[in-house]
Amino acid sequence: MTYILALDQGTTSSRCLLFDQDLQLIDVAQHTFEQHFPQPGWVEHDPDALWQSQRQALLNVIHNVPDAQRGTMIIGITNQRETTLIWDKHTGHPVYNAIVWQDRRTARFCEQLRRSGNESLVTEKTGLLLDPYFSASKIRWILDHVDGVRARAERGELAFGTVDSWLLWQLTDGQVHLTDVTNASRTSLFNIDTLQWDEQLLELFGIPASLMPEVRSNAELFAHTTWDELPGIDVYAMAGDQHAALFGQQCWQPGSVKCTYGTGSFLMMNSGPQRVSSKHRLLSALAWQINGVTHYALEGSIFTTGSLIQWLRDGLQLIDSAAQCEALAGQVEDNGGVVIVPALTGLGAPHWDADARGTVFGLTRGTNTSHICRAALESICLQVDDVLQAMRQDTGMKTNEMRIDGGAVANNLLVQLQADIAEMKITRPQNLESTALGIACMAGIAAGYWTQAELAKKWKEDRVFSPVMSVSDIAKIKGGWQSALDRSGSWL
Ligand code: ADP
Repeated sequence: MTYILALDQGTTSSRCLLFDQDLQLIDVAQHTFEQHFPQPGWVEHDPDALWQSQRQALLNVIHNVPDAQRGTMIIGITNQRETTLIWDKHTGHPVYNAIVWQDRRTARFCEQLRRSGNESLVTEKTGLLLDPYFSASKIRWILDHVDGVRARAERGELAFGTVDSWLLWQLTDGQVHLTDVTNASRTSLFNIDTLQWDEQLLELFGIPASLMPEVRSNAELFAHTTWDELPGIDVYAMAGDQHAALFGQQCWQPGSVKCTYGTGSFLMMNSGPQRVSSKHRLLSALAWQINGVTHYALEGSIFTTGSLIQWLRDGLQLIDSAAQCEALAGQVEDNGGVVIVPALTGLGAPHWDADARGTVFGLTRGTNTSHICRAALESICLQVDDVLQAMRQDTGMKTNEMRIDGGAVANNLLVQLQADIAEMKITRPQNLESTALGIACMAGIAAGYWTQAELAKKWKEDRVFSPVMSVSDIAKIKGGWQSALDRSGSWL
């Protein structure tokens, strides 16, 4: 029997999942850590708390594995992307907190770069937009605002890493400074055509090349752990969380797509071995590089989906639980003319309207909670559909199936509405832990446990949802959405 430890380091918690060689989930442990908000718009994590929470989750799981079996374990690491750390190569001490992907402190700097005409250069090389979201401007901020750090960086004393690199550094007692192509591709410093750090971009952001980790593929031997609490385990895979999820959903063919329905929703489409540039403000990314084969992806993030349901529950107190919105929405045949645009924090892909705000249209004396719940669920599906349409137009690929995961896919009505509105088959897998599963699969491929063909047999669907709604009903919902979108745009 062989085992895989999937370290899933997220924005609010660190988890460790133990899979056996049949990809059965044997054990899981999770530890949360504190979020720091030093100023409005700033979000930080304590690097040590990140490591300690991951360490604790790992040790909890290891505790349950008999000694004899430890020799047969390998590790895969998947993580929140973009979050930026800088530490001293000799002491291992961080020079500042981790600046989290959500942090907007570098918005002005990015705006200045955009105004001086640099966005096309960044997009051409990295597939990304010029935005504080990505690591480059966060690195620059630390170099410029923490005493002495730029000089130390220029003397080659410091290391930059996203969370994957930081965890690997800890697991190897400061011996190994590596990242993988997917995490590198979210820094805004990595050329996704040449698969190398880009000198021109390093110069644009004012970042010394000596800070950067060496970049590897997603599935290969990264290191042996030399950490005293768990020595001698091979780390065989690293990948950003969305990329691992795409792989875990077995979206291996060009045109295949997955969507994660959580607080927000995250779509990723495998666009094949050639990079596709978006004309609809989607991001181009690396899907993965495995066994010498590189796949690219298109990505679209939607800010408010599951959090709209949280707002119905906690803000409006219309429902007692997220699950209740399914029952209520199921009591009516349609939305009764109600349309919600859930731009509670602006609109993400493909609209990118930071000044849009949430709106509810079409209220009458006959409107009740059920109509609001139904309109809320439809608004999640309509936003996802907008991204899907953009992906189809950008790639010219027909997608007739989408695979789904995330907390909200427990809602059968939501998934059925998605199938209707997107007019496609939606498949919900039995194992919804796509991210951890994906990194476990990559690690197992690298260690020679299985081939992709063998893995294909292990993926099992729970339920397939097919479109049933009439063409005229779909047209009514989409028509309402389009005019509501137009009216809520640029509100601020
Ligand atoms: P995250 O990983 O972003 O924290 P999860 O994947 O745990 O999110 O999913 C939680 C989100 O899903 C919450 O925003 C919640 O409102 C939403 N959610 C959970 N259950 C349901 C449901 N039955 N119907 C609709 N939304 C739901």
